[in-house]
Amino acid sequence: MEQRTIKKAIEVVGIGLHKGEPIKLRLEPLDVDAGLIFYREDLALTIPLSPSSVLDTQMATVIGEKKRGYISTIEHFLSAVYAYGIDNMRIVIDGNEMPIMDGSAISFCLLLDEAGIQKQGKSKKVIVLKEVVEVKDDDKFVRLLPSATASFDFKIDFEHPIIGTQSESFEFSTHNYVEEIARARTFGFTKDIQYLQSIGLALGATLQNAIGLDEHRVLNPEGLRFENEFARHKILDAMGDMMVTGHNILARYESFAGSHSLNHKLTVKLLSDSKNYELVELKALQSRTFAKSFA
Ligand SMILES: [Zn+2]
Repeated sequence: MEQRTIKKAIEVVGIGLHKGEPIKLRLEPLDVDAGLIFYREDLALTIPLSPSSVLDTQMATVIGEKKRGYISTIEHFLSAVYAYGIDNMRIVIDGNEMPIMDGSAISFCLLLDEAGIQKQGKSKKVIVLKEVVEVKDDDKFVRLLPSATASFDFKIDFEHPIIGTQSESFEFSTHNYVEEIARARTFGFTKDIQYLQSIGLALGATLQNAIGLDEHRVLNPEGLRFENEFARHKILDAMGDMMVTGHNILARYESFAGSHSLNHKLTVKLLSDSKNYELVELKALQSRTFAKSFA
């Protein structure tokens, strides 16, 4: 499988979740081996995508430089980048957060569809797991296991009548992603939103870009897109957070009650020891299944 970029530059304007202001996002093609590079146009600040660029994982995954500037909420966008197998692209943004769109990744998929995928003639490099890598926090965990295919299994347990205990198992392919994961939206609780807005956050949050829940029910008039939309969104997030490594990861991902914080610790731990993984040219892999899943 060859490395991929996009065929042409493309632009979209959306609202930022936290400031509630319009943000312009432009995607530009890059050469082979250039990687995924974020650029804050308003600050002339380049932020290469890597776990070492991660500044914060409290509310969302945030990359940047402490003194110069940051970009928040990169995970939904990067989830679509993972699914489309894009290796080289410049992501130009004129504010400090990615547009939230409808709270899922489907708008980013449509954007990439419109830009078109360009094969670049040189072999794609992927991270292949060699050892089990795990991060725990009490009963919560995230782990990556060696596997011939990429799959994601997520279980959550919320004390809420609508969410409760739910899970999703997902065998990755681009097609399956668009059908089963990309449309799953982020979610928030009324009581948290009220607090966040009182401290100047989540100002752009509406029922157009998140599933809203009070103590008993879903507030969105259209209801849920999937019965287990919450668990599916957690997989969407996990894929985006694994893409912070800059590469697709060939592994099985499993989590109970994982978070951006645990996902970040997982990628740091993974890359901290070369016994854990190998960066492999996809054509050299014995299993062709992974390459086929991007077809
Ligand atoms: Zn999310």
